[in-house]
Amino acid sequence: MTNGFRGGSIMGIRIPTRFDENVATRCAGCGEIIGGIPFRVSVMDIAPTELPPSWARTAKLNPGPHQFHADPEHFRAWARRRGYYFCRLSDVREIMRPVPMPGENLRWGLCDGMHREAHEFVPA
Ligand SMILES: [Zn+2]
Ligand SMILES: [Zn+2]
Repeated sequence: MTNGFRGGSIMGIRIPTRFDENVATRCAGCGEIIGGIPFRVSVMDIAPTELPPSWARTAKLNPGPHQFHADPEHFRAWARRRGYYFCRLSDVREIMRPVPMPGENLRWGLCDGMHREAHEFVPA
C-alpha cells in the first residue's frame, strides 16, 4: 500500500479513485483510450487580425487542447474528419495554427507556422 490513497469511502462518502490521472483520456483521432501521456495539440490563432472580419465572426475553431496518441496520424485523422487541410511543410506540433484557405467555402489549413515558404495544403 505505497501507492497512496486508492479510493474507497470515508464515513459513507464515496471518494473517487486517483485524482491525478484521467483514466478515460481518449484520443480525439481514433477514440481509443490513451495509455500513456497524451499528445496535446492546441489550435491557436496567433495572429487573428489576419482573418477577414466576416470570417472572424463565424469561423470558430475549438482551440483545444485536443489529446491524441503520439502518432501524428491520429491528429491527421481528426483533422480529416473535420475537413481540415494540413500543410505538407508542417509537422504535427503542440501548437497548430489555423490558416484560412481561399475559396468559396471557408476551409482551414493547419500548419505549425515554422517555415517561410508558402503553405502547401493537402487534405489531412
Ligand atoms: Zn489515437
Ligand atoms: Zn505551412
